[in-house]
Amino acid sequence: MDTASMDAHDVVGAAPRALATEAVHAGRDDLARQGLHAPPIDLSTTYPSYDSRGEADRIDAFATDGADPSGPPIYGRLGNPTVARFETALARLEGTESAVAFASGMAALSAVLLARSAEGLRHVVAVRPLYGCSDHLLTAGLLGTEVTWTDPAGITDALRPDTGLVMVESPANPTLAEVDLRAVAHACGTVPLLADNTFATPVLQRPAEQGARLVLHSATKYLGGHGDVLGGVVACDERLAGRLRQIRFATGGILHPLAGYLLLRGLATLPVRVRAASASAAELVHRLTADPRVARVHYPRIGGAMIAFEVHGDPHEVISRVRLITPAVSLGSVDTLIQHPASISHRIVDADDRRGAGVHDGLLRLSVGLEDVDDLWADLDHALGGRAVTPVPLQAAAPLREPAAG
Ligand SMILES: *Cc1c(COP(=O)(O)O)cnc(C)c1O
Repeated sequence: MDTASMDAHDVVGAAPRALATEAVHAGRDDLARQGLHAPPIDLSTTYPSYDSRGEADRIDAFATDGADPSGPPIYGRLGNPTVARFETALARLEGTESAVAFASGMAALSAVLLARSAEGLRHVVAVRPLYGCSDHLLTAGLLGTEVTWTDPAGITDALRPDTGLVMVESPANPTLAEVDLRAVAHACGTVPLLADNTFATPVLQRPAEQGARLVLHSATKYLGGHGDVLGGVVACDERLAGRLRQIRFATGGILHPLAGYLLLRGLATLPVRVRAASASAAELVHRLTADPRVARVHYPRIGGAMIAFEVHGDPHEVISRVRLITPAVSLGSVDTLIQHPASISHRIVDADDRRGAGVHDGLLRLSVGLEDVDDLWADLDHALGGRAVTPVPLQAAAPLREPAAG
């Protein structure tokens, strides 16, 4: 049977494996027995069954607790074997019982909010900064939730009887501010803590080990890792996973099987990519910190491949002058990206709230990729300007580039 849930049973009782090993094997444990090496991509929307009594029972069971229906798949919105492989692998990497994948990071967060609201728990306590659209979703109350913003020390006081969720990001997008997850989890009491682990990835940090009940990823970023797939995933215990599957089934925010395949493939190289890019990032932090054109560098204690820095000059000028680095929103790709959060990733957040969260107008966010670090520095050095660089016309300097638009 080509299901990832079967893999999970296969490893019960086996010795725990290291993250690097899980990254290439989790979700694939059954392949050799099937005579396969690469995971198959199952694009079926529906599945034939001559046993409709049996399907009725399995649908009833799903409606009760959201458990992954055992046996053959039923319909693509209920579950997909290729996506299940990715879910199995990600749960293994985050050290949780289960994981549920969605069409994007925002679809994943929406499902969590809906699941809590459905239990009558509409109130969310959250710590800024969060990713701009997560902040927007909570602030605007688009899903009928109400948010109280606080700092980590204020969490316990902010809890109410109808609080269904506490949400933090660490390191946070875009300032890389960190919270003490263990202390925050303790402050939450019985309210589930959701930690957005998009920036750290399970390679650098496993929030479930520190008490987070829900670990969220924009899989679009490091998990996919190549800038060619949108996805989201929540790693959690099986009870919460069941609720999330039921929400996903009813609202339709499913991950496409091809995206599931690409995300599983991305996981295989995740540890190697994150460690290599983090080493380059640490070196760039060193050079940026020593540079008089740079006012401030933000880099988290746990490391990683994300850097935020503030320039004395105009940040828009820096964006307009990069040539090797891509000036684009998003992060976590094999190539290096730079963007201006106040203009793009956090534009949708009210300017006062944004600045209050430390997202200053001079702040730039750099997602370090796998290029040679000296080539990256040469590009940053040029982009920062202020050196005796002979002006070169854009066409001559970058013949392969389209003329800059907007
Ligand atoms: C990008 C991002 C999201 C949203 O993910 P999408 O896949 O773009 O929907 C959520 N959290 C963080 C930290 C992000 O960087």
